[in-house]
Amino acid sequence: MSFQPPGQCPSCGEWVPRKALACDCCGACAKSGWKASADVYDGLDLPDEDFDYNEFVEREFGSETSLKTTSRETLWRWVAAILLAVMVLGYLLSVR
Ligand SMILES: [Zn+2]
Repeated sequence: MSFQPPGQCPSCGEWVPRKALACDCCGACAKSGWKASADVYDGLDLPDEDFDYNEFVEREFGSETSLKTTSRETLWRWVAAILLAVMVLGYLLSVR
């Protein structure tokens, strides 16, 4: 069941005015299901609940997969650099 203003805040018992989005007293709001303010602040400051921080870190930084990706990128950078050097050398030789 969900609380609908106006009425008493289910969390702290203060009167919540009509069309209020959150309780002035404790910060409970419709988004959090009118729970205590700690839950509200979690919802405001952190990304969605399905956001997995550990998975994000592993994907972006630590894991073996990203290391492989990085070394592959380095290889391609070397290939590009060598190709560029060959092209520049060929251009210089053809100019002479
Ligand atoms: Zn309240």
